Amino acid sequence: MNKMEEDRIECVTSSSSTERFVVEIFECPVCAHAMYPPIHQCHNGHTLCSECKTRVHNRCPTCRQELGEIRCLALEKVAESLDLPCKYSPYGCLEISPYYIKLKHEALCNFRPFSCPYAGYECSVVGDIPFLVTHLRDDHKVDMHSGSTFNHRYVKANPLEVDNATWMLTVFHCFGQYFCLHFEAFQLGMAPVYMAFLRFMGDETDARRYNYSLEVGGYGRKLTWEGTPRSIRDSHRKVRDSHDGLVIQRKLALFFSGGDKKELKLRITGRIWKEQNLESAACISNLCS
Ligand SMILES: [Zn+2]
Ligand SMILES: [Zn+2]
Ligand SMILES: [Zn+2]
Ligand SMILES: [Zn+2]
Repeated sequence: MNKMEEDRIECVTSSSSTERFVVEIFECPVCAHAMYPPIHQCHNGHTLCSECKTRVHNRCPTCRQELGEIRCLALEKVAESLDLPCKYSPYGCLEISPYYIKLKHEALCNFRPFSCPYAGYECSVVGDIPFLVTHLRDDHKVDMHSGSTFNHRYVKANPLEVDNATWMLTVFHCFGQYFCLHFEAFQLGMAPVYMAFLRFMGDETDARRYNYSLEVGGYGRKLTWEGTPRSIRDSHRKVRDSHDGLVIQRKLALFFSGGDKKELKLRITGRIWKEQNLESAACISNLCS
């Protein structure tokens, strides 16, 4: 047995070195992403992914020889036989999946990090929820509140001149979870509107266990909204564009503000609660503990 074979066998015996080995042989030498079938190779055996193949104008990026149409079936076969841990295993995912399913799983894995929910500008920070809560508080100076009811004022001078605006995010902490309250001005068709909505800092399946209501009014009129918070997996723009929240026509918003059109002064009250059946189940477990 030569040295290389020995090395390989040793690699296969320990799971973490197998993983490293697999990552290396399936890494496209051009883009460094994992290669999925069809995997290509040149006459000299240099491999590359199908995306890169379309970009390199039929020249092998490694040896500059003509590439041709050679599939690397051996590598594709090896890929088929592999079971690999999810790349989010350091975050707690225990999923082991075949090579081809791994990518699909990782795109939807519940342990994949969340994007920062801050809405004022694009923020590229990602992480788990406790990390993002600290990040929102320390880096974005976001208002943090405890409790499941709230009463929030949104003020803006010269509202008629503003068609697009994002107000400072507010974070509420209740039921051991975090919720983001958003308030935005935008054009809905031809009409300027304001919109308030809540996002849940967690996954969609957990978001469905909560409900919230929002209320705004004045001078004998009242608008209310009741819904399920959306997960921060959905961008605030996506939620806004689906109108999944309390939408207030500007005319009505100015009427609620006192009607002088010079200042927007809205008081939005709201409440978050747990879905009824789950709440009673939670109460029982609280009694038991
Ligand atoms: Zn590539
Ligand atoms: Zn080559
Ligand atoms: Zn996973
Ligand atoms: Zn951020």
